[in-house]
Amino acid sequence: GVWAGGLVGDVRLRPSRGTHLVLRDRDLGGLATGLHIPIPGETNRFVLVLPQGDGRVYVGLTDEPVDGEVPDVPDVPETDIGFLLDVLGSALDVTLRRGDVVGAFAGLRPLLDTRGEEGRTADISRKHAVLHSPDGVVTVVGGKLTTYRRMAQDALDAAVTARALDAGPCRTASVPLVGAAAPRTLAGLDAPSHLVRRYGTEAVAVHEMGLERPELALPVVPGHPVTRAELLWAVRHEGALDASDLLDRRTRIGLVAEDRAVAEAEAAGVLAEAVGGHGGR
Ligand SMILES: Cc1cc2nc3c(=O)[nH]c(=O)nc-3n(C[C@H](O)[C@H](O)[C@H](O)COP(=O)(O)OP(=O)(O)OC[C@H]3O[C@@H](n4cnc5c(N)ncnc54)[C@H](O)[C@@H]3O)c2cc1C
Repeated sequence: GVWAGGLVGDVRLRPSRGTHLVLRDRDLGGLATGLHIPIPGETNRFVLVLPQGDGRVYVGLTDEPVDGEVPDVPDVPETDIGFLLDVLGSALDVTLRRGDVVGAFAGLRPLLDTRGEEGRTADISRKHAVLHSPDGVVTVVGGKLTTYRRMAQDALDAAVTARALDAGPCRTASVPLVGAAAPRTLAGLDAPSHLVRRYGTEAVAVHEMGLERPELALPVVPGHPVTRAELLWAVRHEGALDASDLLDRRTRIGLVAEDRAVAEAEAAGVLAEAVGGHGGR
């Protein structure tokens, strides 16, 4: 990822910060449709407004070069928040203020430094690269979330070839995701559609947890669809180890500090139950 330059001396990255805002859909007139808003003065850049179907709307994102040490979690500067609110304001009738921003988060794109110091990070290729260092380290860097399997395949193939390792042909491209199925199969599952969208065929098992123990079918945060069953599922089947895994990574509850505060006790309870080995699937 973006930290590769700190691990392998000859890998040079040009990190670029992408910031998103979290707004309440009620502050956008109940907006239910995604928007692409052209960034004033740019020819091919847009701010995306993405309703999540859970009362939240994500607005993003920025593309700002970042120098210096790569932090574990990048800060969100007020300038990014102001920029996104300004672009939003250029297209909507409603006026949104800083106080309407209920959350904000940023990530650093691991862009390969291919252009020297000149040029904008928005113009650097998002393709991944497999790099061989003189000391034998193979690094895969750049790329997209959507191409993660191709990245893994290319990196492993490079390592297998470089060391003449004994391995069969890669089968990544034909291994389905956990829970994947044909749309017709998914449509016939006995589970609510929002669970099917998140879990695929496994939604049935998540749903059953709530049928067996109705308290697990309740939302973790009033007005937000994630249920207690989903937190327990995350501990039992998705490797969640602590409250941050549950609230920031397996679910996105933690993106809104107010919601996170409500959910923390619930997350602690679920973790305690899982460690205590309560029966069930
Ligand atoms: C703002 C932003 C927007 C993006 N938009 C899109 C998009 O729209 N579509 C898309 O497909 N992709 C998008 N991406 C790209 C995508 O998220 C990244 O390219 C992808 O996550 C890179 O995968 P990776 O495995 O190389 O790195 P990462 O996913 O960053 O994984 C690297 C891992 O290494 C761990 N790590 C770091 N140092 C160490 C160490 N010393 N020891 C052990 N572990 C360590 C980190 O904790 C991390 O888990 C976006 C990225 C950002 C930041």
